[in-house]
Amino acid sequence: MGEQWMFYFDPNRCIGCHACSISCKQRHDRDPDAEDWRTVTHLSQGEYPDFEEVPVSMSCMHCHDAPCEKVCPPNAIEKREEDGIVTVNRDRCIGCHYCAWACPYGAPTYGDDGLMSKCNMCLGEGPGSGHGQPAKQKPEDGGAKPSCVDNCVGEAIKAGPVSEMKAEASGAAAERFENGAYESRVIVEPIAERAPLHEDTDESSDTVDNRDEPATKTEQSDTQTAGWLNG
Ligand code: SF4
Ligand code: SF4
Ligand code: SF4
Repeated sequence: MGEQWMFYFDPNRCIGCHACSISCKQRHDRDPDAEDWRTVTHLSQGEYPDFEEVPVSMSCMHCHDAPCEKVCPPNAIEKREEDGIVTVNRDRCIGCHYCAWACPYGAPTYGDDGLMSKCNMCLGEGPGSGHGQPAKQKPEDGGAKPSCVDNCVGEAIKAGPVSEMKAEASGAAAERFENGAYESRVIVEPIAERAPLHEDTDESSDTVDNRDEPATKTEQSDTQTAGWLNG
């Protein structure tokens, strides 16, 4: 088997602008009103006045175990040997929605034709275009860079073979990935310690002084993100 491709996401660099999901739709010439293959969700963190929203950009994870593939009655879904990308043969799809029930991430979408489509890592252009394509190549080898990666304003999303994504990641993110925090589906950077959102006045100093130490705060943030990412 070739090396598994995967996504990397850094919530510290994401500004929640939705350029990734819009560019995905444009690349694949999809109806503007259709469900996004890549979605940006805004998670709430903390309590007023120390409150913020953390944007999380997600698409199909191209899972190692691919629950969608296991439940598809006509075997329309394939976990590819050559690059680990999960593709859909729409000539086989019967629109039963079993894959949507099995997917923990809500990745499958259905258009007016009733057939399933989802992220194909930009193996081609258009719904179903990934099926039957040759192995994914890196841009320097002549492959197309995924549109969401190419158009991410903050360079928060990356895609590539597992070894390359691990090399891009911080030690903490790589370690978490190796320990199976995301079931080998995506590398996510821990949310960094952020500056307090309001001035540290005498009145508010108790609140600030009683805040958790950085390590604990990061752990809490990670748990929140991990919980969401694991569906
Ligand atoms: S994220 Fe969902 S659609 Fe994508 S491979 Fe995993 S189960 Fe299938
Ligand atoms: S909707 Fe299509 S791809 Fe999904 S499980 Fe049914 S036949 Fe398979
Ligand atoms: S890799 Fe391509 S198909 Fe997948 S979410 Fe990004 S732009 Fe969309």
